[in-house]
Amino acid sequence: MTKDYYAILGVDRKATKDDIKKAFRKLAQKHHPDKGGDENKFKEVTEAYSILSNERKRREYDSYGRTFAGGGAGASTGGFDPNQFSGAQGQGSPFGEFDFSDIFSGFSGFGDIFTGGEGASQVARGRDISIDIEISFKEAILGARRSMLIAKVSKCEECVGTGAKKGTKMKECSVCGGSGRMHETRNSIFGAFSAVRTCKECEGTGKIPTERCNVCSGHGVLRREEEISVSVPAGIDNGEMIRLPGQGEAVKNGTSGDLYVKVHVKPHPIFKKEGVNIVMDLPIKITDALLGSTVPVTLIDDKVLEIKIPQLSNAEETLRVRGKGVHAQGAQGDLLIRVTIALPKKISSRAKKAISELKEEGL
Ligand SMILES: [Zn+2]
Ligand SMILES: [Zn+2]
Repeated sequence: MTKDYYAILGVDRKATKDDIKKAFRKLAQKHHPDKGGDENKFKEVTEAYSILSNERKRREYDSYGRTFAGGGAGASTGGFDPNQFSGAQGQGSPFGEFDFSDIFSGFSGFGDIFTGGEGASQVARGRDISIDIEISFKEAILGARRSMLIAKVSKCEECVGTGAKKGTKMKECSVCGGSGRMHETRNSIFGAFSAVRTCKECEGTGKIPTERCNVCSGHGVLRREEEISVSVPAGIDNGEMIRLPGQGEAVKNGTSGDLYVKVHVKPHPIFKKEGVNIVMDLPIKITDALLGSTVPVTLIDDKVLEIKIPQLSNAEETLRVRGKGVHAQGAQGDLLIRVTIALPKKISSRAKKAISELKEEGL
């Protein structure tokens, strides 16, 4: 069922986002069933808009004549089923829980309406939170574990999130009659239409406690400090983010958000990380450069390694010590030592004389 979405909206294939939005508004107003319009026509227009207003879907549609299901937020179902749109209940409004006031205030999330076919779309979700931590360079290379206290909205431990006092029962919500939903008439730019909303009193559960939990006052959640442990993987880069699913803020009768930990790595005075390799500069004496030598180097894990310096043929050379870099996720990097020649600050008269002799030798 390949439809020409451009023709449906009456726009050019080169139409801008704005053109598409304008065309849709006009057609949606014209065909809106609550204004006596044709419901099928309205669905068609809405479907076309849901595809063409989304950059990714529009690209897919332009290239393949259809869109694909995919991961991530806002991904639509592959074969678009306009019937999903009506919602399972469909009471009151032919559009179920379709909330028009949301469409016209924020267009960006519009495509999402078409995703939740199973009716699971209305599950509340707590906020994601993000925190920053600072670790040393050594911890970044070797991995680390951090515990921290985070003040956030968490599930009430007393009532395990139910909001009911321990040992008391729940009763039917009198506001929504136990359905968890409220039908209400709303006003929009199209005029009045009815919509189904989640009951605020019982937050959609249809049940309220007979006696409220006295710790969270019946909210089921409360703001408190919680100790959270983060495992920082070896080889992490400065600015990388670690995601802890479900460790964000809790919400009553819903799923918790995620916690994002942004890791800042303190710079090291000697070592730098370049991919899986560790890089360092090693200044050596001019005589060691000329004759070759062995120099002790303290590694990131505090082990001392005797580095054999060959007679240098250049003023700067990089020595590679295999397997002494980052060990992470199966990768084994190397230690790269950039050897440079450190000239002496002062030269004694004896040294001067010796160097003069070398100069005469043409060195
Ligand atoms: Zn409680
Ligand atoms: Zn209720």
